[in-house]
Amino acid sequence: NYTMETIEAWLDRFTEVIEQNKQVLSDLDTPIGDGDHGNNMARGVKAYQDAKEKKAPESIADVFKTMAMAMISKVGGASGPLYGSAFMAMAQASKAYETLDTAELAAVLEAGALGIKKRGKAELEEKTMLDVWWPCVEELKENQLTEEKITAYVHHTKELVAKKGRASYLGERAIGHIDPGAQSSGYLFETLIK
Ligand code: ADP
Ligand code: MG
Ligand code: MG
Repeated sequence: NYTMETIEAWLDRFTEVIEQNKQVLSDLDTPIGDGDHGNNMARGVKAYQDAKEKKAPESIADVFKTMAMAMISKVGGASGPLYGSAFMAMAQASKAYETLDTAELAAVLEAGALGIKKRGKAELEEKTMLDVWWPCVEELKENQLTEEKITAYVHHTKELVAKKGRASYLGERAIGHIDPGAQSSGYLFETLIK
């Protein structure tokens, strides 16, 4: 079972991985965006850590809400409201639980993926973070998610033409580049299964 402590440990690890890969994420955003995705995400996770230090969360839902508020208020850019919507939906979906079992956690993440879909009005194969969230949730529901699969979903975005966000201005020229938001989402799922 996942307790509030294990959820916090997950998001602490996510914080570290974002900080360590800030340059990687901004470099992915350079050819098909404006080169700020790593900085945006790093600001978000830092704000999450600061908020949590100021006021310790009291439940799993509270942890997710703290992350949502940090993302919405500090990230800016497209990814802030998108991650914000995901974590806000996850807070809502976990409200009734003190701990989560594997199936419940998958359902919470499914609410997160739906939050992104709704907020971004994105469909699958549009070269966005949804192309990682959606299949990862499907695999989590079956208890079949592996690091290899996450990497494959992230890399699959290379082949796609972007239909949403800044990369959509590039048309076919976006092909051959991994979507930065797909990569940061890959880190979220990797740190989760670890
Ligand atoms: P910005 O593009 O405003 O600089 P970021 O660089 O932080 O913001 O985030 C870009 C990422 O946001 C993209 O890589 C993509 O994954 C995601 N994104 C952009 N628009 C959408 C959308 N409508 N739906 C889902 N994800 C989106
Ligand atoms: Mg950007
Ligand atoms: Mg930007």
